[in-house]
Amino acid sequence: MASTAQSPGYRLQRTRLQEKLDDGTTRCHLCLWRCRLKHGQRGFCQAHVNRHGTLYNLSYGILSAIDIGPIENKPVRHYRPGSRVMSVGSYGCNFRCGGCHNLEISWGVEALDELAWGQSTAAHVSPAELVEAALRHRVEGIAFTYSEPAVWLEYVMDVSRLAREAGLYTVYVSNSFVTDEALELMAPLVDVLCSDIKSLEDHFYQQICLKADVSQVLGSIKKAQQLGIHVETRTNIIPGRNDDPAMLENIARWIYRNLGAESPWHITRFFPAYKLAHLPPTPTEVMWKCHDLAKAVGLKNVYVYDDKGCDCAEDNMPVSRYLQGDAAAIHTVKKCSASCCGEEGILLGKYEEQQKD
Ligand code: SF4
Ligand code: SF4
Repeated sequence: MASTAQSPGYRLQRTRLQEKLDDGTTRCHLCLWRCRLKHGQRGFCQAHVNRHGTLYNLSYGILSAIDIGPIENKPVRHYRPGSRVMSVGSYGCNFRCGGCHNLEISWGVEALDELAWGQSTAAHVSPAELVEAALRHRVEGIAFTYSEPAVWLEYVMDVSRLAREAGLYTVYVSNSFVTDEALELMAPLVDVLCSDIKSLEDHFYQQICLKADVSQVLGSIKKAQQLGIHVETRTNIIPGRNDDPAMLENIARWIYRNLGAESPWHITRFFPAYKLAHLPPTPTEVMWKCHDLAKAVGLKNVYVYDDKGCDCAEDNMPVSRYLQGDAAAIHTVKKCSASCCGEEGILLGKYEEQQKD
């Protein structure tokens, strides 16, 4: 069983994969941005900061959302079907998808600024408290979702370790722009990966992440399966963006050849959001045509979701709903113990400009 230790409160946590470079910068190896940061700088995800040569995660124990539902909603169909899972997410993502449904609970740039500047009132939940909450609500697993879990891998690993001891499984819902090193750390602890394959065109990926290309994403998915993680994949079809039938068929072919004929593929419906608010939802017939193409390629488990968009869960309950103690106590101000990056922090816009140079 998980320990009942009290929350130690919010504090910065050393980034699990970091490397000091000869030029005085420190590189983060959690995701494939592999950000190289000077003192005071924050990574593209905004969730890691360099303080005097050491990288720290700002979002450890900070939950932006929490919800309980069937594992099928992740979507995952071939692992513990019918079980219920507690989903959690934090602030910080390594992508900037134009159709992101999760802006406030995924990017969370303002929330991360507040954490960096010691002004946050965000709830802090220790791994033990989260596992206890999951057990109390009688779920069978914990899912890390809503943004890219690699950017708070420190928390994902600590929770997963306790979850396993408590008999819970863990699910990692990812864009798979993660390093092999991060996957190797996770593999002994995480049971399931549900990964997006957003497109087979580099151009598509580079619109949402300047450094991403298709081969990196596919390589990470394949690596996860080789490491023994149960893998399922998902493609959210966006009208006019990634709905070319030949390309979708090639995704199915890639899954067939690299993950196997039995590997589940989830085809989900796009709903207008953010910069893509002007686009229509995915027509049902487009999704079923994709389904038929995938079946013809040889994939045996193809699922179409024509009633639901991404799992941003608009009906997420407040974090306090699931945790012990009254809401006021959970949301007391948790100041950073140090001044962190202060005015030296590099905000997203400026950092993105640097990456284009
Ligand atoms: S996790 Fe964040 S800081 Fe680390 S490489 Fe990725 S974007 Fe950069
Ligand atoms: S859709 Fe997912 S990967 Fe893309 S920006 Fe939003 S949270 Fe990040």
